[in-house]
Amino acid sequence: MSGTLFIVTAPSGAGKTTLVKGLLERDASVHLSISYTTRPPRPGEENGREYHFVDVAKFRELRDRGEFLEWAEVHGNYYATSRVWLQAQIDAGRDMLLEIDWQGAQQVRKAFPGAVGVFVLPPSTEELERRLRGRGTDSEDVIGRRLLAARGEMRHVAEFDYVIINNELPAALDDLVAVVRAARLRYANQHARFPTYFEFLEKD
Ligand code: 5GP
Repeated sequence: MSGTLFIVTAPSGAGKTTLVKGLLERDASVHLSISYTTRPPRPGEENGREYHFVDVAKFRELRDRGEFLEWAEVHGNYYATSRVWLQAQIDAGRDMLLEIDWQGAQQVRKAFPGAVGVFVLPPSTEELERRLRGRGTDSEDVIGRRLLAARGEMRHVAEFDYVIINNELPAALDDLVAVVRAARLRYANQHARFPTYFEFLEKD
């Protein structure tokens, strides 16, 4: 039985990382896909945990070898999802979650049409700006670029199956948990989980 692939996309500052962390704590059956990136680690980030941190030369080498399912340039850095590793996880029946931008989401949807797309919106653009400034880890220049990118990113909301407005974290987390549960109850998933039962029901 293959696992479900969840794609979670949001502009930086929408609270996506906190939400996803909350989901992983509440649901041990969801596993996070670890992307490759050329951006430097932020304080507290560890190679192989948040990302595989690589330099541009290594990134290009992996990309040109066809190692990536999708890749994108976001805020001047490269990001990518490993193809072979992700496919193996899904084939092993694991539910996998990708935290990627809209460009990557479009590419992944082509390869995995059954993927469940979730877009996380901040309550408003004013609140988004406040959150980006409050994080305190990025320079003014980076914040400006992220704000501009956020507006562009939010234009792609209609390409997603579910939209979560992250006003209050606990409610938004309940929403995300609900999406995951609902996806697991889809006919194809239930059929794969209980084949004997369904075969019995469907025989004439
Ligand atoms: P950050 O640098 O704040 O961790 O992430 C910046 C952006 O890169 C976020 O919008 C995030 O979703 C996106 N991102 C992270 N990993 C990947 C990936 O593997 N592929 C793509 N396309 N985007 C990614």
